[in-house]
Amino acid sequence: NNMDDQDNLTSVLYGVRDLRLEQRPIPKPGYNEVLLKIQRVGICGSDVHYLVHGSIGNYVVNEPMIIGHEASGIVVKLGEGVTNLSIGDRVAIEPGVSCRMCTFCKNGKYNLCLDMKFCATPPIDGNLTRYYVHAADFCYKLPRHMTLEDGAMLEPLSVGVHACKRGGVTVGSSVLILGAGPIGLVTLATAKAMGASKIFITDLTDYRLNVAKKMGAFKVIQINKGESDEQAIENMRFELNNELPDVTIDCSGFQQTMKMGIELTKSGGVLMIVGMGASKNVELPLFNALAREVDIKGVFRYANDYQDALSLISSGKVNLSPLITHHYTIEESLEAFKTAETGVGNPIKVMIHVD
Ligand code: NAD
Ligand code: ZN
Repeated sequence: NNMDDQDNLTSVLYGVRDLRLEQRPIPKPGYNEVLLKIQRVGICGSDVHYLVHGSIGNYVVNEPMIIGHEASGIVVKLGEGVTNLSIGDRVAIEPGVSCRMCTFCKNGKYNLCLDMKFCATPPIDGNLTRYYVHAADFCYKLPRHMTLEDGAMLEPLSVGVHACKRGGVTVGSSVLILGAGPIGLVTLATAKAMGASKIFITDLTDYRLNVAKKMGAFKVIQINKGESDEQAIENMRFELNNELPDVTIDCSGFQQTMKMGIELTKSGGVLMIVGMGASKNVELPLFNALAREVDIKGVFRYANDYQDALSLISSGKVNLSPLITHHYTIEESLEAFKTAETGVGNPIKVMIHVD
């Protein structure tokens, strides 16, 4: 193998706006772990948030932390007890390793595990590094015809899969997606693959809506930034032609979008809230939801969704290549983050090549 060079260039976040490239020792895989040569790492909004603010909620970068959690890699060394993988396997890395022992884990809701170790959520290191060790049972072997970019994209795609499953999206559903960022777009692709008949999607920016249109949205609707919530909701009623969706999936998570989600979902339908854009308490027309039995559900990452996300891509039902707009090398980490942060060049998913 090609480990002789000992080069383990790593992208480490030291604090607010302090991302450094440095050499780290190559880690050793322990029991049930594999050493991976990382190939692709997508940048997520949360990575950018840690860089710009140094924290998300109660998670604070107090010590240097390796950034990145949307990754694929190649197995280069097996730890003791690993039977599901072989050296040379190309894998997608599910970044959250749960305890596998608690009641949440045992009930299959391991995303709620209190002992979760999630890449690039402080104090846990991420995987924007050349060599990285991960639990073998959280690595998914990619079939030959899937790309390493596909492998990295399984992370956001799993969020869309989780949201659509929890929302009950099925054959013939009409779905409204609020926000056409990476998460809104993977949700669009998933809902379509699950048989939704009509998918409406909104955003503030037209370039993201153009991609949504190409990916098969029934109708894309641009929201005007200056509009009052009431005006925006009224316009949406008109755009929907008063045919309210069975399922609304909020992939931006602001007060306006959550309000919209309540008011515009069909009576008896479901509002999924995936977006976490609002950092403060929000004011919502809850009575409207209660009186019309609109169920409001949250989404926290994913659980048991990686394999389904993989199947969606390997079967050709989902193609996420239109989302990958920018490519950088790990040496260009700072430029990559700058593009993701500023939006200059109309990025959707920024992909870092580590190989
Ligand atoms: P993003 O910021 O790239 O996308 C959000 C999109 O919403 C943007 O394109 C923006 O233009 C659009 N938007 C803003 N205000 C809007 C409005 N009023 N109406 C319609 N669209 C509007 O982020 P992303 O990576 O796509 O993630 C989306 C959200 O999901 C983020 O808040 C992120 O933190 C959250 N997220 C949650 C989970 C989870 O487990 N629940 C996982 C991943 C991401
Ligand atoms: Zn657990």
